[in-house]
Amino acid sequence: MVVLVAEDHDFQRRTLVRMLKTLGAKEVLEAKDGLEALTILKQSGPVDLLICDLDMEQMDGMELIRNIGQADSVGADSVEPGSVGAVIVLSGHERSLLDTVAKMARAYGVKLLGAIDKPLTLDRLRNVLDVHGQQVAAAEPWHQFSVGEILDGLRLGQFDAFFQPKVSLSTGQVAGAEALARWHHPEFGLVGPIAFVPPLEQAGEIEELTFAMLGQAAAACRQWAELKSGISVSVNISPTSLDDPGLAERIAAVTSAAGLDPRQMILEFTETAAIGNTGVTLENLVRLRMRGFGLSIDDYGTGFASLQQLQLAPFSELKIDRSFVTGWADNPSSRAIVETSVQMARQLGFRSVGEGVETEADWNMLKDAGCDMAQGYFIARPMAQAQFLTFLMQETGLT
Ligand code: C2E
Ligand code: CA
Ligand code: CA
Repeated sequence: MVVLVAEDHDFQRRTLVRMLKTLGAKEVLEAKDGLEALTILKQSGPVDLLICDLDMEQMDGMELIRNIGQADSVGADSVEPGSVGAVIVLSGHERSLLDTVAKMARAYGVKLLGAIDKPLTLDRLRNVLDVHGQQVAAAEPWHQFSVGEILDGLRLGQFDAFFQPKVSLSTGQVAGAEALARWHHPEFGLVGPIAFVPPLEQAGEIEELTFAMLGQAAAACRQWAELKSGISVSVNISPTSLDDPGLAERIAAVTSAAGLDPRQMILEFTETAAIGNTGVTLENLVRLRMRGFGLSIDDYGTGFASLQQLQLAPFSELKIDRSFVTGWADNPSSRAIVETSVQMARQLGFRSVGEGVETEADWNMLKDAGCDMAQGYFIARPMAQAQFLTFLMQETGLT
């Protein structure tokens, strides 16, 4: 792994370099500000990771992020798209500001792994790298796979659905689980969706993954239902799949082949401006709903769905994005967003789910807001199917 560090404070930069070497970085390049970082990127080629301070003289972290982002690839200073695999920012500023920086990075098309509060410690650095590394191959997390390699892996059966429980906030009982795709790569170990979902979506090949996950999720839920009646399984569907007029029928066929009642399956669509805006997408949504499938709006609050779209499309669940949940219990504006979303969901007749519940404080905030369900590391991380079955058996008192 090649890392570039941009930090104007000499001592802090040296400390960071030492920590990265301790954590096993192969090569660490150093820059005193954004300008020097860009020069290095142009001269020595792509890096896997950029760690940059937000406040630097000459060119600060934000300008640097803009210049490595794809959105501004015509700027005089900008480098080739793809020169930087991912970015971590360092800052002494408050969290709400870092959150805006994260949004900004996303808008510039830059993959932000996280922010580290100063003072920098080995633990903090390890944590940010771990959040990423835990789910993704530890050896080479930023390897770029070609669509061909991904499809080969799929056809060889190397992809598994992992399951993360969704729990009722009032009873603490498991209500269902979300299927999250994982690739058991023969060389790189366990690889997470960020490495294969976007390339498949861009190539128009996401359906092969979608249907593999639907099949596994339906079969798994069928099995869980014997332990717990009414349990549901959620599957992520790319919004572009809704453009296919045959989608609803194909999903129904997979579910019925597994012997699962469609009412036990929830389909999650990320909130985008496109949802329910064309005839075909609406037809698919209505067909799915008529057959009994649950329809969920994922990552609510990050997209641009209008209230009218929410009201007109036949959704049954609203998942509040984790950027409003994780670590925000003490923040009045974030609480207000959560409360408003929960109330709106209730008035529209949807169930509400809070994502990214990492602590008891996150859990309590959702509970106080009247949210129906919670999902997150505080309850459990996504786990392999066999492990989820054990989890469920423990919960239902069968072991
Ligand atoms: P998502 O649908 O929002 O899924 C939740 C993501 O948040 C998962 O990441 C999960 O591991 C992570 N997560 C859960 N609890 C916590 C928490 O408490 N804190 C934090 N920081 N994160 C938490 P994962 O598995 O890496 O998936 C990332 C995204 O990839 C998913 O986001 C979903 O949009 C997409 N994805 C996953 N599987 C599929 C799939 O089969 N098809 C499609 N189209 N997309 C998928
Ligand atoms: Ca989801
Ligand atoms: Ca989500």
